Order: sequence, then C-alpha cells, then structure tokens
Amino acid sequence: MILSTHDLAIVGGGPAGMAAALVAGRCRLDAVVINEENPRNRVTIASHGFLTRDGVHPLELLQVAKSQLQKYPSVIYYTDQVIAALEEDDGGFRIQRAVGPEIHAQRVIIAAGNRDDLDSLRLPGIHDVYGKSVYPCPFCDGFEHSDERIAVFGAEGVERHVPIIKMWSDDVHVFTNGRTLSTQAKQELDRNSVSVHEGRVRRLVSQDGRLVEVQLENESIERDAGFLWDKAGVPSNTLADDLGVPRNMNPWGIVTYQADEFGRTSVPGVYVVGDLRSGFSRLTVAAAEGGRCVEHIVHEISMEMCR
Ligand SMILES: Cc1cc2nc3c(=O)[nH]c(=O)nc-3n(C[C@H](O)[C@H](O)[C@H](O)COP(=O)(O)OP(=O)(O)OC[C@H]3O[C@@H](n4cnc5c(N)ncnc54)[C@H](O)[C@@H]3O)c2cc1C
Repeated sequence: MILSTHDLAIVGGGPAGMAAALVAGRCRLDAVVINEENPRNRVTIASHGFLTRDGVHPLELLQVAKSQLQKYPSVIYYTDQVIAALEEDDGGFRIQRAVGPEIHAQRVIIAAGNRDDLDSLRLPGIHDVYGKSVYPCPFCDGFEHSDERIAVFGAEGVERHVPIIKMWSDDVHVFTNGRTLSTQAKQELDRNSVSVHEGRVRRLVSQDGRLVEVQLENESIERDAGFLWDKAGVPSNTLADDLGVPRNMNPWGIVTYQADEFGRTSVPGVYVVGDLRSGFSRLTVAAAEGGRCVEHIVHEISMEMCR
C-alpha cells in the first residue's frame, strides 16, 4: 500500500503542536497534524497568562489556531487519534490513526501533552471542581482567587509551595489527606500562619464547580478555592516510549521525556515538546517549544540539502 508521505508529522494540536504546525506552514514544510482535540486544560473556562490571549477559553484558542492554519497549504490538519507510531527500517515513521489511513513522515514531533489522573489524588469530589475552583497551577489561576480562603492539597515538600500561594491570599490551609508532615515542615507552615489538617479528606463539597468546604472525618473547613501540590499529570499516551525515547522525572516528580531545548530526543527524527517534555509547560512555553522545534528541523533539513 502506498502511504501519503510527508516531511513532518505532528502528533497533538495543543499550543505546542499548533505552534509547530504554524511555523511548519510558514516554512512551506510538507507537514501533517493529527489532533484528538482533547487538551489537558479543557476543563477550564479561561486560560490565563498568554500574552494578548489572557482569559481565552482553551477550545477558542484551538479554533483560532486551526483557522489561521488554513492559510498555509503545505500543512494538513486531521481531527483523529494516533494509535501507533513505528520506525521504518528504511527511515521515517509510519503513523497509524484510529480513523483515517496510515501516514508516512520523515520526522515526528510528539506534542500529545499530559492528562490528569484525578482519581489517583483520592479526593472525592475533585472532578466537580477541577479547573473551576481547584487547579494545578497558581500562576495560571491564582489571581482569580485573590484574598479568598484557599486550600492546598499535598504533603511532602508542601511547606515550600505555600509561600508561593501566599502571593494571592493570606488565608491558606494545607490538607495532607491522611499523611503526616515532618515536625520541621509543620514549624515552617506555622511560622507562615498556615493551618495543617492531616486527616483523610472525605469529600470536597462544591456548588456549580465552586469549592465550598473540605470535609474531613471529624470536621469541615470552609474554603473557596484550592491548589494541588500533589501531582496528577501523566503522559497522555505511550507513543514516545514505543519509539524508544527515554523517560525522565522533573523536579516535581512528574514523568517527562528526555529532549533538549529544541525538542530533539536521542532517537533520530523524533522530537518531544510541550508538557511531555517538561511535565507542566503552560501555554506560552508549550507554544514557544513547538515553534522553536520546527525552526530547528528546518535548519536540519537545510544542512542535509547542503551535504
Ligand atoms: C486545569 C488546568 C488549567 C490550566 N490553566 C492554564 C492557564 O491558565 N495558563 C497556562 O499557561 N497553562 C494552563 N494550564 C497548563 C496548560 O494547559 C498546559 O501546560 C498546555 O496545554 C500544554 O500544552 P501541550 O501542547 O503540551 O499539550 P495539550 O494542550 O494537552 O495538547 C495536547 C493535544 O494532543 C492531543 N493528543 C493526545 N494524544 C493524542 C494522540 N494519540 N493522537 C492525536 N492527538 C493526541 C490532545 O487531544 C490535545 O489536543 C492548565 C492546565 C490545567 C490542567
């Protein structure tokens, strides 16, 4: 069977993948984007901190990116899922899709992001509030909850995180969900006037996505919003593993894939950008990584042409 052949396949169309696609289009690279359209931050109503796009809905960001991509005829966009990426003996990669036909590409950028395994947090009620009043990142959503009553969920190392949260509110309570903090950590939190609750969380009570209280076995603490110090992010699929890209662990204990600042991995022709490279890149950094990776690929191709 003859497969459609491209210079570049981009797996995933979040900010990392769509920025890669945009730069590929502007460089007239023959590229294909395959995007399942299920971005990690889809649970939020507004994304923050992206210059000129502050407060944009995640899916609106994707719609604008898709429409701007239409100007570039060398890039094809498919809404589909990549189910396998295989290295071919004679070079390049065979990309298998859930719905459409297979694709062949000389290079692959994996920009498939992370997903949040919320059940691993063992916080009943988290699904109702995640992205609406309880978040992974205070830089993304802290401002909207300035001076509110904040819950922080986590244990080991949480005392180092709390001073950051205090940029937005002085009223912070830590919930360890059944874990015991060291005496030193407790003293540090006490110095910062932070209350610690070591009981198991029975339920996060909420109304229309808004956290109302944290129920423990013997008490309930009223809270308006929360941040997770415990991490739930995991790679959204195993495509990078299947292609032989080694894993890493970032300083916060999140699985990442080894790739340099251009997204280059140790597997020739395979690049990893965005959350899969750093664990939690945020929109601006993910977009920057995607664009920079394609610029690097264009340099590589031009060097090959000079040989
Ligand atoms: C609740 C929440 C709120 C956040 N708020 C902010 C914020 O306000 N500001 C900010 O800067 N950052 C925010 N972030 C972080 C931000 O969402 C991520 O850092 C960013 O989206 C990472 O971009 P990415 O392109 O690497 O991955 P993603 O945006 O997750 O995109 C990956 C894409 O790849 C697709 N995909 C996955 N697997 C496949 C496959 N097999 N085949 C085809 N497609 C596939 C997915 O469907 C998705 O569309 C937030 C994150 C969360 C969880």
